[in-house]
Amino acid sequence: MVWFRRDLRVHDNLALHEASERATDGIVAVWVVNPDAWRRHDDGPAKVDFWLRNLRCLADALAARNIPLRVIRVARMEDEADAVVREAAACGCHALYFNREYEIDELRRDRDVVERCASAGLRVHHHDDRVAVAPGRVLTGSKTPYTVFTPFRRAWYAALRERGWQTVPAPKPQPRIDVKATEIPAEVEGFTSPLDASLWPAGEDFAQRRLAHFAEATVRRYETTRDVPAIDGTSALSPYLAAGVVSVRQCITAAVAQNDGAPDVGNEGVVTWVSELAWRDFYQHVMVAFPRVCMYRAFKRETERVPWRTAPAELARWSEGQTGFPLVDAAMRQLVKTGWMHNRLRMLTAMFLTKDLLLDWRAGERFFMHHLVDGDLGANNGGWQWSASTGTDAQPYFRVFNPYAQSKRFDPDGTFIRRFVPELQSVSTTALHDPAKLSVEVRRRVGYALPMVDHNAARVRAITAFKGLSTAEPA
Ligand SMILES: Cc1cc2nc3c(=O)[nH]c(=O)nc-3n(C[C@H](O)[C@H](O)[C@H](O)COP(=O)(O)OP(=O)(O)OC[C@H]3O[C@@H](n4cnc5c(N)ncnc54)[C@H](O)[C@@H]3O)c2cc1C
Repeated sequence: MVWFRRDLRVHDNLALHEASERATDGIVAVWVVNPDAWRRHDDGPAKVDFWLRNLRCLADALAARNIPLRVIRVARMEDEADAVVREAAACGCHALYFNREYEIDELRRDRDVVERCASAGLRVHHHDDRVAVAPGRVLTGSKTPYTVFTPFRRAWYAALRERGWQTVPAPKPQPRIDVKATEIPAEVEGFTSPLDASLWPAGEDFAQRRLAHFAEATVRRYETTRDVPAIDGTSALSPYLAAGVVSVRQCITAAVAQNDGAPDVGNEGVVTWVSELAWRDFYQHVMVAFPRVCMYRAFKRETERVPWRTAPAELARWSEGQTGFPLVDAAMRQLVKTGWMHNRLRMLTAMFLTKDLLLDWRAGERFFMHHLVDGDLGANNGGWQWSASTGTDAQPYFRVFNPYAQSKRFDPDGTFIRRFVPELQSVSTTALHDPAKLSVEVRRRVGYALPMVDHNAARVRAITAFKGLSTAEPA
């Protein structure tokens, strides 16, 4: 039996591939509907809907290879291991294959799975399929995990070059077996997506087309396009990578084909994009080495003592895109409307919440996770803690983005702001970056909020809150 998780594809799927190499009398696939785990992990309805739509495509691709997909449902997160092992036994399987997940609950679950398989007489095979380089494979000279990205990336490149990033083919049709596929739910109660499904089409074929298009049209210029939210300057593959509809090895392969096969030297666009994939791996490695980050704890322990403010009304204004800072508001509205936000704006909005408003990064992390189609604990937590200066950022806490400067620099003609903040459609570009410059009368007419904080004063407040935190461990 192959247990699919966030690896919803038949091509370059290490667990599925190994099962197809070893099995002689057919393969059964399984996927678990686990609303309890989804709720506890803040997985939002848009992402669950994306999973289910991709699962339907996967079921078709598996059926074409005589592999029935069984969908089982569990009531509690903790029941998953037992339910899968029982399903495997009931289907007459002798072995269980899966690709590892690195979040603490999933790691614990998989330990449970291994024990239960041993008791049930099932062989277990698991793989590091989600990442290009397995957690634990790159360590510092003193054999400790990396805590800073740049040296991690150096070691990651070396490991990548040593091991390669070869992809494996989809399995050939298997012998037919007497196990029926189950119906895939169109929807799971409590997870009705508010998004139009056409925003994020499902399926491996679509993901491969998007990857090919990005590789042909954009990747070689990525270092110049990546910071402009108004254009399609990034791959928009994150939902597909997060759900495993496309693999990181497929991404590297497509990118380096535009760079004479090299991931780390040569064309700047390709090298920069592959480096983003290294960030993705980095945060998975961090989760394994420092599992406290999966438990709402700060990576830098001393920052547990930052005196975050409690201000629900301010959190609400941020969430609703009503801060009075146009680029921040445009970004937050993009998130809620599309289930995705540009990376530059994720950093900006996260820094705005944690530095300008001095509100706890955990509230923002949760809000993002609930709305993102690409929500992924490692990347989301890593991004939030980086922005809040509680994480792996090598820079100290006084990195505070100026929202006005960011607006002028990354959306100079205001195209992106006008797209998501229609009430500012008709104001001049200068006022678009700083609506405080609008007269009271014009502001009232367009109906746009006043800036909710004075950025300069807020910056000083944030720096003061961080200053003097001892680097000693909290008691
Ligand atoms: C506060 C915050 C929260 C974030 N939350 C998530 C999240 O939940 N899920 C998620 O996939 N990414 C997250 N990111 C990282 C990044 O913003 C997105 O991966 C990126 O915007 C996705 O767009 P893209 O696919 O066009 O990326 P591209 O620029 O085309 O990059 C290619 C791929 O590299 C990976 N990647 C790129 N940048 C990063 C990064 N900084 N960290 C980790 N992986 C990266 C993604 O898988 C992405 O699809 C977050 C960043 C911040 C600052």
